Amino acid sequence: MGPVLGLETSCDDTAVAVLAEDGRILAQTRSSQDDEHAPFGGIVPEIAARAHALRLDRLIARAMAEAGLHFRDLGAIAVTAGPGLIGGLAVGVVTAAAIGSVHRLPVVPINHLEGHALTARLTDGAAFPYLLLLLSGGHSQLIAVEGVGRYRRLGTTLDDALGEAFDKVAKLSGLGFPGGPAVERTATGGDPSRYALPRPMVGQPGCHFSFSGLKTAVRQVLPTLPEGPERAAALADLCASFQQAAFDAVADRTAKAVRRFRERWPDGRELVVAGGVAANRALRRRLDDLAARQRLCLKVPPPELCTDNGVMIAWAGIERLRAGLESEHPLQARARWPLDPEAEPAPGAGVKA
Ligand code: AMP
Ligand code: MG
Repeated sequence: MGPVLGLETSCDDTAVAVLAEDGRILAQTRSSQDDEHAPFGGIVPEIAARAHALRLDRLIARAMAEAGLHFRDLGAIAVTAGPGLIGGLAVGVVTAAAIGSVHRLPVVPINHLEGHALTARLTDGAAFPYLLLLLSGGHSQLIAVEGVGRYRRLGTTLDDALGEAFDKVAKLSGLGFPGGPAVERTATGGDPSRYALPRPMVGQPGCHFSFSGLKTAVRQVLPTLPEGPERAAALADLCASFQQAAFDAVADRTAKAVRRFRERWPDGRELVVAGGVAANRALRRRLDDLAARQRLCLKVPPPELCTDNGVMIAWAGIERLRAGLESEHPLQARARWPLDPEAEPAPGAGVKA
């Protein structure tokens, strides 16, 4: 089969990796656009697309040099074709198609969510079937992973993704972008019981998430915070209260999904977590408890492979090539591309066709 080059440009990280066909990482590079988007407190699609176009070539050259390979040595190129911001996706797909056509290499279009879903098989040897909790800047989903190309969505967000809610809370509080790490830092030592914030969807039927009401509740509390020297402690308490409320909701929805997963896939033993929010230590502690209580093995890939990266795309390409599924999807950039085609459309990010 030969090594696989993986390209990821669906959001605000330009990322490239080269994997040997057995999954060994031969090279990985990433360029974050945080500095470009920081003045706006969120991702600006036009700026993201330009940044990918300016950087992707050089990152590919660097990764190939690090791997000590020429394009002719590759077995295939895997590229994120969706879901995501269409400008960035188009840059990745066109680049992969050009290299593929010059060097006569197969190009495998990868669903970004599939990349996240399969990473724990590379890093932690996760075995099908398992339950995936994906919490990132663009997605919040609970997915039963049955096999390569076989995904059942159990829950998704009806509005904001959790990482997006962290980013918005940070923006409203003047904590900067990206917001997740800043909110976590600010919350450290804060009193999570000081502000009574809503626990969205807790106790509701189904496994869906909703985070926009929680963000609005934080917005309403902010103007009531004291000014002057007491403000820092109050903001720490507010961030801690926000995290607690959000993670109560995550724990409730995940426990519900575990029950559904068990009913249909009684052989499943693992809970896999992915997405940038998985870097949060308070969340990690909650999920450790939940997995222990549910007698599931918790698998969280290292932070650099939880957030957007090229390794997961190359790996998904390898999984598809091994399974003979490399031509299942057309090579076409798609802003919306549900991983589970049978899932009912929901208004949240990345789930509508
Ligand atoms: P991704 O979309 O997977 O690239 O992850 C980026 C998202 O993860 C952003 O929305 C970040 O704010 C969020 N994030 C990163 N680190 C943390 C953290 N420590 N706590 C909460 N959210 C985080
Ligand atoms: Mg990102």
